[in-house]
Amino acid sequence: MTTLEIENIHAKIGEKEILKGLNLALEPGKVHAIMGPNGAGKSTLSKTIVGHYDVEVTEGDIRYKGKSIIEMEPEERALEGIFLSFQHPVEIPGVNNAYFLRTALNAKRKHEGKEELNAAEFLRLMKSHLEMLGMKSDMISRSLNEGFSGGEKKRNEILQMLILEPEVIILDEIDSGLDIDALRAVSEGINKMKDGKRSFLVITHYSRILDYIEPDYIHVLKDGRIIKTAGPELVAQLEEEGYESIIEDIES
Ligand code: ADP
Ligand code: MG
Ligand code: MG
Repeated sequence: MTTLEIENIHAKIGEKEILKGLNLALEPGKVHAIMGPNGAGKSTLSKTIVGHYDVEVTEGDIRYKGKSIIEMEPEERALEGIFLSFQHPVEIPGVNNAYFLRTALNAKRKHEGKEELNAAEFLRLMKSHLEMLGMKSDMISRSLNEGFSGGEKKRNEILQMLILEPEVIILDEIDSGLDIDALRAVSEGINKMKDGKRSFLVITHYSRILDYIEPDYIHVLKDGRIIKTAGPELVAQLEEEGYESIIEDIES
């Protein structure tokens, strides 16, 4: 059974073709890690899945629970349970973090036919996650990501994930620029969401986060395609020999 099925995706940003026939299937409960050199198309893949307006899909299909989502608006995909933590979370001055998040959660709850949470109920939910994430309480009332440090932005992304409880969780370099404490907090948040049902796509350059979240599969993405898929043992080889050795193995 697959949750998300990416089939022969070709995608452009502007005039440039970036994904060139990419295939990938995510199953419930499994953690897929994507590694690969800079400029390979990792962020473009994550944006393609969530329907980001920068990306134009020219060929191929993406199915979520068996249904094509390729024509779906990004908001609709989010309501259906697909979540992306961006490599560079945007700052939105003037938009209160808690208000933003409650609006997103209530839209999703409404979509699922559930009762909306009032401000007090939501605050309780939000606060229940803050300590584990090592977030200061003023981050509830500050503007979304405005003036947040790199680590604070990434913790806030994990907070969004914990509150929205998505089924497909895509994390684009969630670990980049984190100190050890932040990395541990972020990893703990991710592991909390591992319930055997959700699917994870974790894009990273570093093995450190993979020590914490224990991926089931490692994919190497290069030049818009997945050129190798293996078990977690591949991480050590990549750490030791770099991407070039893998690429040479495949090309020879
Ligand atoms: P990765 O995340 O693997 O480092 P990206 O998906 O960000 O790679 O980028 C893949 C390629 O697409 C790169 O060559 C990059 O310069 C190009 N690219 C990404 N975004 C844009 C954009 N908005 N405009 C033009 N080119 C882009
Ligand atoms: Mg990059
Ligand atoms: Mg990237």
